Amino acid sequence: MKKLTSSESLVTINHFKNVLESEGIACRIKNEYLGGIAGEMPLTEVWPELWVINELDYDRAKQLIDAAIVEESPQRPWKCGTCGEENEGQFAACWNCGELG
Ligand SMILES: [Zn+2]
Repeated sequence: MKKLTSSESLVTINHFKNVLESEGIACRIKNEYLGGIAGEMPLTEVWPELWVINELDYDRAKQLIDAAIVEESPQRPWKCGTCGEENEGQFAACWNCGELG
């Protein structure tokens, strides 16, 4: 077991889990049921966490999650690190030079 990520939103963690499982990567959510008592503990300790069962899947799982995060926030503009152009959030690659943001 290896921890992949955490989020204050269980919806987000569930989304990541679905993404990974659709790719055949076994994973598990921790702290899934602790959100309701968040007032009792420091917030970061009760955030739902996503763990990958097999550590050999970790790198691939991380890539999938990074890709899923881009999908989750499609409207946020970003600046190309190669040519400095501003790009609309829904484009994954720079319109000017084609670099992946
Ligand atoms: Zn560019």
